[in-house]
Amino acid sequence: MLLIPCPYCGERPETEFSYGGEAHVARPQNPSALSDAEWAGYLFLRENRKGAFRERWIHTHGCRRWFNMLRDTTSHEIHAVYKVGDPKPPAPGEKPAAAAAGKSAAKQPAARKPAAKKPSTRASKGAAK
Ligand SMILES: [Zn+2]
Repeated sequence: MLLIPCPYCGERPETEFSYGGEAHVARPQNPSALSDAEWAGYLFLRENRKGAFRERWIHTHGCRRWFNMLRDTTSHEIHAVYKVGDPKPPAPGEKPAAAAAGKSAAKQPAARKPAAKKPSTRASKGAAK
């Protein structure tokens, strides 16, 4: 069993927690200005990275508060746990300055635009059927 260090309560068994998906997904500032593909990208496309990954968790059967965790998705090693709004801790092998630069880039909705192109690829596959 994984022991998760809640930033508010301390270490607790994983059964008390619920996974909330990728952390730091910024909501677009003007959703009505987005194309359907860009909106779908915001809603559905996630990094799903292998290795160190920042994710949201909630202590469902404890303090019921959301927090972020930097966890290795292959080994389940927890590198860091931090409160929502706190600066991103650097991933292993990542410079602290790079993590800070990533945070400011993530606040801008334009940062996710490259990912929004994927639905059009799927749509073209669907059209080929
Ligand atoms: Zn807690």
